[in-house]
Amino acid sequence: MAEKRDYYEVLGVSKQASDAEIKKAYRKLAKKYHPDVNPGNAEAEAKFKEASEAYEILSDPQKRARYDQFGHAGTDPNGFGAGGFGGGFGDFGFGDIFETFFGGGFGTSGRRNGPQKGRDIRHHLEISFTEAAFGVEKEISIYRMENCDTCNGTGAKKGTSPTVCTVCKGTGQIQYKQRTPFGQFVNIKTCDHCHGEGTIIANPCTVCHGKGKIRKSRKIKVNIPAGIDDGQTISLRGEGDPGIKGGPSGDLYISINIKPHPLFQRQGTDVICEIPITFVQAALGSELEVPTLDGKVKYAIPEATQSGTVFRLKNKGIPHIRGYGRGDQYVKVVVEVPKNLSEKQKELLREFAALEGEDTHEQRKGFFEKMKSVLGI
Ligand SMILES: [Zn+2]
Ligand SMILES: [Zn+2]
Repeated sequence: MAEKRDYYEVLGVSKQASDAEIKKAYRKLAKKYHPDVNPGNAEAEAKFKEASEAYEILSDPQKRARYDQFGHAGTDPNGFGAGGFGGGFGDFGFGDIFETFFGGGFGTSGRRNGPQKGRDIRHHLEISFTEAAFGVEKEISIYRMENCDTCNGTGAKKGTSPTVCTVCKGTGQIQYKQRTPFGQFVNIKTCDHCHGEGTIIANPCTVCHGKGKIRKSRKIKVNIPAGIDDGQTISLRGEGDPGIKGGPSGDLYISINIKPHPLFQRQGTDVICEIPITFVQAALGSELEVPTLDGKVKYAIPEATQSGTVFRLKNKGIPHIRGYGRGDQYVKVVVEVPKNLSEKQKELLREFAALEGEDTHEQRKGFFEKMKSVLGI
């Protein structure tokens, strides 16, 4: 694409030009280059588009300020999220330009009062570690907009009913004609009398104040899938606020918090736990009772198990969400040094120490020598 010309240059105005001057300059150019006036003239069409694009930016105080500060980059819909100017200029028909020029709003008239999606609702739910692992059905209470019972959603006081707006005859829109240099255009705007509703409520319902809808507490059942993790969100389509004028309902988003478990920790689909064992169990080997999500299982640790050793129990972890199989459980054994020994126990330990073979002494001697060489002491 060729380098864009400066918008002020395109319209032939100074950077300090007033809104009126900009409008006047655009009118002049539009009249000169309009495709209806120059049928089949590609150059005129290009000039018309260029002028319209310049006007689109310079006639909007926000866009103009952005353009003044950042140049063309400031009006790039991808760069700055410039509201309203989506998709590049070429996508707009001339009708849109005239709507901008004469109608005030930019592509909003007639659309603002059309169907709209209802509001989304967000909810936090705390569940237990095992509920998250195996899935659970929960009932939650949310507040959402629903039809007012008192007026059956009409918004009119009991015994009365809304009447059709006499100004727009119930359409919510008013057509008006506008003369332009290129002929007469028919524009559509929202009916001021009924604010686009098409009906007038003379005596509003006292409960919903004429809105026809009120916020209600609603209980909703939620199926939480097995394997869900902390911070994940469940979305329930259509369980948010109802749509406006036949638009779809909003959605309900439930974000999950998992309460900590006294024994287990979670890493993805793996479960991690620590088990204390005695010095004697570690030395002689033992059959341990290990807690798992499925209950206790027996696990034999061998003789001379060192503190900090980790064992893996396959498929004892958390189910893969919406998949097959489960993670594993990792069991870390921690040797506890005995406390509050009796005199007799201490005596036995001294005896044990005296009996300890030269092998272990050699081992430790090796360690101290290594330390000496590393630290130089
Ligand atoms: Zn009306
Ligand atoms: Zn009501």
